[in-house]
Amino acid sequence: MAKKYRLAICMVLAAAALGACAVKKHGGATDSSVAGKQAKDGMEAAASAENEQNEEMQTSAEGEVSEADSVSGNEGDSVSETENVPADDSVVNSGAESESVPTVPEETTSDKPAETPAETPAETASQDNEAVQASTGITATQVGITSDMTYAGFSAINSGSAVLYKNSDAIRGKYVICVNAGHGTRGGESVKTQCHPDGSAKVTGGTTGSGAVKSSAISSGMTFNDGTAESKVTLAQALILKDLLLEKGYSVLMIREGDDVQLDNIARTVLANNYADVHISLHWDSTENNKGVFYCSVPNVASYRAMEPVASNWEKSHKLGDAIIGSMKSQGVKIFSGGSMAIDLTQTAYSSIPSIDLELGDKASDHSDAVLTSNASAIIGGLDSYFGIS
Ligand SMILES: [Zn+2]
Repeated sequence: MAKKYRLAICMVLAAAALGACAVKKHGGATDSSVAGKQAKDGMEAAASAENEQNEEMQTSAEGEVSEADSVSGNEGDSVSETENVPADDSVVNSGAESESVPTVPEETTSDKPAETPAETPAETASQDNEAVQASTGITATQVGITSDMTYAGFSAINSGSAVLYKNSDAIRGKYVICVNAGHGTRGGESVKTQCHPDGSAKVTGGTTGSGAVKSSAISSGMTFNDGTAESKVTLAQALILKDLLLEKGYSVLMIREGDDVQLDNIARTVLANNYADVHISLHWDSTENNKGVFYCSVPNVASYRAMEPVASNWEKSHKLGDAIIGSMKSQGVKIFSGGSMAIDLTQTAYSSIPSIDLELGDKASDHSDAVLTSNASAIIGGLDSYFGIS
């Protein structure tokens, strides 16, 4: 079914590429929900750019875990290529021009009747695509960072685009879930961005130690015991989750649909802030004891919880995390400790919407499609509960 469903989406995308879909221009007044979200996260602070994404935890309020920074040892591969990294982190790539060209993910390319000029033999295919679009009610739009977005200037790598899938479902369709496949940004490890928007230091250790003001724009992730890169597994999980979310009626913002997207952790978070209602990043931790699932909660440090946008969102983020962990628990998924671990994450520090980093296990965890599918189902159960949908 997934295959068939994906094909349907692909056809919609192809239709979009042929101009059948209306494309919303970001930042325009056409989308009141986006405008509202931007207005909502109206605070700002200091200077440049920061980042790092978590995962390798070190300290924990709730948990015992004390993971040393095992990242550096095992993420050699893609780190050294930095050609796509903007030299000046104040230069925010304008995705605006490309927004009018909806993405056609790689897998769809072959389905598409090769760059057919609008009114040639594509006629038939075009009609078919429209029919599929009508029956699925899903449209896809490529979205990128624009300089007017709050915190955009803090990101260092932002030339890539995400894809916004809008679902016409009357109930779930109005909720946009940002699905963020952790890692997968070539060159991100060697670029530094600012940990917190106000320039303050990290309050817990992780990939970067407590007290640091800057950290990696985005790390490469760990390698599972079976040799699989974490970024491959997070992508597989994200794609399965996307299919299921769309099938259930939710709208989805996909940060990454291939092995690489040039969006660092801050850029990903800024896109989520602007286009989604909740942000879920997908990760596996670097321990090796199959410890179970948990989300990264917000450290109980007064200054951190008082800092915007954390202050306005951390309780909602905990509610979201607890809902997802509760659902996973009820479906028999192994949960680590109380289901959360307090970590000072870049994602959290810049999130103006409820946002969690979900660690779906560790290096020893089974990451077969069957497990990823049941994870997806449990995550959706948690979202239904969070939004009060039965
Ligand atoms: Zn990770």
